[in-house]
Amino acid sequence: MAVRNITILGSTGSVGVSTLDVVARHPNRFHVVALTANKSIDKMLEQCRLFRPHYAVMLDPASAEKLRVKICATKINTQVLCGVESLEKVASLSEVDIVMAAIVGAAGIRPTFAAAIAGKYVLLANKETLVMAGHIFMDVVKKNNATLLPIDSEHNAIFQSLPRDFSGDHTKAGVRRILLTASGGPFRKTSLAEMEHVTPEQACNHPNWVMGRKISVDSATMMNKGLELIEAHWLFDAAPEQIQVVIHPQSVIHSMVEYIDGSVLAQLGNPDMRTPIAHALAYPERIECGVTPLDIFKVAQLDFEKPDFTKFPCLRLAYKALAAGGSAPAILNAANEVAVESFLKSKIPFTAIPSMIEQVMREIEHKDIFTLDDVLVADSMAREAAYEKLSATSSWK
Ligand code: NDP
Repeated sequence: MAVRNITILGSTGSVGVSTLDVVARHPNRFHVVALTANKSIDKMLEQCRLFRPHYAVMLDPASAEKLRVKICATKINTQVLCGVESLEKVASLSEVDIVMAAIVGAAGIRPTFAAAIAGKYVLLANKETLVMAGHIFMDVVKKNNATLLPIDSEHNAIFQSLPRDFSGDHTKAGVRRILLTASGGPFRKTSLAEMEHVTPEQACNHPNWVMGRKISVDSATMMNKGLELIEAHWLFDAAPEQIQVVIHPQSVIHSMVEYIDGSVLAQLGNPDMRTPIAHALAYPERIECGVTPLDIFKVAQLDFEKPDFTKFPCLRLAYKALAAGGSAPAILNAANEVAVESFLKSKIPFTAIPSMIEQVMREIEHKDIFTLDDVLVADSMAREAAYEKLSATSSWK
């Protein structure tokens, strides 16, 4: 079996750590060439000790310098680099076959593009790339013969439930609808009035999944489902009205595809990111990855509800951004990132997150986007507008 070389972008995060867990179980299949992070030096040093990559990239130059000093004091032969260009470099090295794109937020877009341009197997956890630059990214993937495999558990489930030769032609495949499941997050049963006072710790306490703080807050506001709606639109060529969001609190069914003959195909499993990661790493083979088998008798019951757009306005805003097209999803994403960061720093209440996003979406004119630069311009304009709102308004509290 040929060993496949991997770069893991965002290796110190939740998805990165799960990826390394799967990789460690298959030393004869995978070899780690590069790992990247922003500032988590100690975690990165430990990963370098265990996986001996050729490169470790820290986005932050001061963190890279500190890591360099620590690595010099060991026998590890890892070159430490820094900056966005180095992230792009390790995502496109000729010896690399697979790139796990698991940086959080818009920061992941440039290295993920670099991997696609270099024609790699791109394992996409960084949904923000597709949200911000959907059609541009899909074109780059096609043009450069890259292979795109979804890591988001829902999209990976949809991918598994579609025919293997699915080309985006829904009629040919007999696909009627995509049923995109959502747990409903920690505040599914919380009233709007109570949501005004929830803390970052409560918002990050997801009932079923252990994830990074940003995506945990996105799950609590349901913006995560909104971003996933846009992601599903681009990945599977599905019109917004073909994607039904379904609240499924047990997070056992990870999503479904409904066919014209009445069949509904689903992928089930315990909520553990190692399943979609292992599926994509070994695709089209299956490998063991340490996930506890699903005990269907213990699960016993599966529930489904319609989403509540009044309690979770972020979902409505995402549908709106998708319908508007152009730069609107990039504006939505950027305003959301600033709002979530502000909430996590206790600068705004939880319920101000959708208000801030809506104001920014109204204020910034939506434009057509043709290049990655167009996307990055929209992103920085929206961030600026969001930060202005933050400093100009004392009434957020
Ligand atoms: P985490 O916050 O746990 O990890 C993020 C990773 O990105 C870390 O390695 C972090 O480094 C690095 N990073 C942060 N900021 C920057 C930056 N500006 N430039 C370069 N690297 C940076 O995130 P998750 O693992 O939870 O999520 C990663 C992506 O995967 C997100 O897009 C998320 O939506 C998606 N995803 C996550 C799932 C999950 O279960 N966690 C499920 C499905 C999708 P450092 O440690 O130094 O900060």
